[in-house]
Amino acid sequence: MAMRKIRTEGDSILLKKCRPVTDFNRRLHTLLDDMRETLIDADGVGLAAPQVGILRRVVLVMDTNKEDLSPSEQIIELINPEIIATDGEQEGQEGCLSVPGVYGIVKRPERVRVRAQDRFGNYFEAEGTGLTARCFCHEIDHLDGHLFTERAERILSDEELEELSEGGE
Ligand code: ZN
Repeated sequence: MAMRKIRTEGDSILLKKCRPVTDFNRRLHTLLDDMRETLIDADGVGLAAPQVGILRRVVLVMDTNKEDLSPSEQIIELINPEIIATDGEQEGQEGCLSVPGVYGIVKRPERVRVRAQDRFGNYFEAEGTGLTARCFCHEIDHLDGHLFTERAERILSDEELEELSEGGE
């Protein structure tokens, strides 16, 4: 496994639409393994392939609701993911490894169900609520070249960020 460099805002690759994965081969598995390592190292909750410069429909989402699992066990690998159902609404703070230091208030569904393929091409469905639902939406947006900053109702000010970090753990 190897770490990959995370592309940041201003890199035009983040604005491009990704192509579906058609070959579930060793190259895909290497990408997934590298993305896992990169995500855990960055201490994030999700990562999309374009963030490491690959224009393919591949994302990782951490199911943070499963608190008893280790970070590596929480990771769901989603190839060619599609949102098939949503329910409710949540409004909350969102950030992105590709937009470091910036947080915004973004409305997302409270519950999201996705259909995707695993690393061997088998179809499966997964469901998430709260942060995990938010993460499914955020990562799948990346595959169509969208960043959360486009969706944000507003971006938090430096003062608000300071308050958050003081009040945080
Ligand atoms: Zn992101």
